[in-house]
Amino acid sequence: MTKTCDNPDTTDPTGGADAAGATAPTGAIHPAAAPAHADGDAPRTPGPAGSASRAAGPAGPAGGEPVVARTREQLRAARAALGDGDIGVVMTMGALHEGHATLIRQARDTAGHVIVTIFLNPLQFGPREDLARYPRTTESDLEICRREGVDVVFMPTPSVVYPEGDPGVRVSAGPLGNVLEGQARPGHFDGVLTVVGKMLHLTRADHAYFGQKDAQQLLLIRRMARDLDFPAEVVAVPTVREPDGLALSSRNMYLGASDRETALCLSRALRAGAEAAVEGPSAVRRAARAVLVREPLALIDYLVLVDPATLEDVPEWYRGEALLAVAGRVGTTRLIDNLPVNIGPGGGALEVFSEDAGRGSYPDEAATQMTQTPP
Ligand code: AMP
Repeated sequence: MTKTCDNPDTTDPTGGADAAGATAPTGAIHPAAAPAHADGDAPRTPGPAGSASRAAGPAGPAGGEPVVARTREQLRAARAALGDGDIGVVMTMGALHEGHATLIRQARDTAGHVIVTIFLNPLQFGPREDLARYPRTTESDLEICRREGVDVVFMPTPSVVYPEGDPGVRVSAGPLGNVLEGQARPGHFDGVLTVVGKMLHLTRADHAYFGQKDAQQLLLIRRMARDLDFPAEVVAVPTVREPDGLALSSRNMYLGASDRETALCLSRALRAGAEAAVEGPSAVRRAARAVLVREPLALIDYLVLVDPATLEDVPEWYRGEALLAVAGRVGTTRLIDNLPVNIGPGGGALEVFSEDAGRGSYPDEAATQMTQTPP
């Protein structure tokens, strides 16, 4: 049972994003059009006016149930009630998995209090993207937050985050937002940075935790924090993988068994590339490409070896840290993955290609397929 607050500025009781966003122009917001949840897993009905809100169940490691805030007022009140200590925020789009849980644990280990935001941000989805069918698993998300000792879960609707509808003013990601993922998804990073900026303001977090899995997003958030003087510290968390190397992603839920097998070529390509790192950039690219060409069912958008700060291809003479990144479509699902590598003598993967993605146990069957060791 999840106790919730009265929700005066919420028009979408499903807590989901706007399904109309899937057919509207990039980033358009239509708060009035409430979607059906793909899995029928809507948050519980709002409680009495002004009441506090807590997710029920056994107490988390932080010593209590997470407070579920759906409005700005509720978030403000929950934030104020946290008292002393740094605040760490983990921003998510829901459908939480062990990757998100790892971010939460890192936040919990280093900050006094943890706020998790769960928000499917229509601004970052293009007209032909998967906003409408993005997995919505509210109950199991709350279960993971509870298990990980999260203090506050902020679950606003689009009309809470964008009360005026489509925001006229957005953060521009600039040139770094137009390459790689930005080339495939025009406007995506403007939408990401706009919502991350808003969430940093709304939560007033001291530390914000983001996954290396979305390397370009992480780079742009770091740049935004630096260029626009956001006071929060941006903390990177290495990619969490399944035992066979597949990077955990909410979108993996779309993959059937054979698609999942196909998808493994992405991480295998990264691993093969890293193994050639001592020989230099062209050897890395060649080794990674050799894996991908053996898998014709993966439609590769790009495979690049780039400078992690500029995202420009590294030249053949380059030595030092580089980012090997890949994106492609498997069936109807677009997947991304990357691996930081050290190019040159003694080179190789800079991130442990994890055989052990985490600890903890999962509340549902899908999640138990993810890598874990017993607590
Ligand atoms: P998302 O809900 O997909 O927007 O992801 C929310 C946060 O979790 C982002 O900072 C992601 O980079 C991070 N994340 C997603 N998948 C992973 C993963 N496999 N390992 C580490 N972090 C992840």
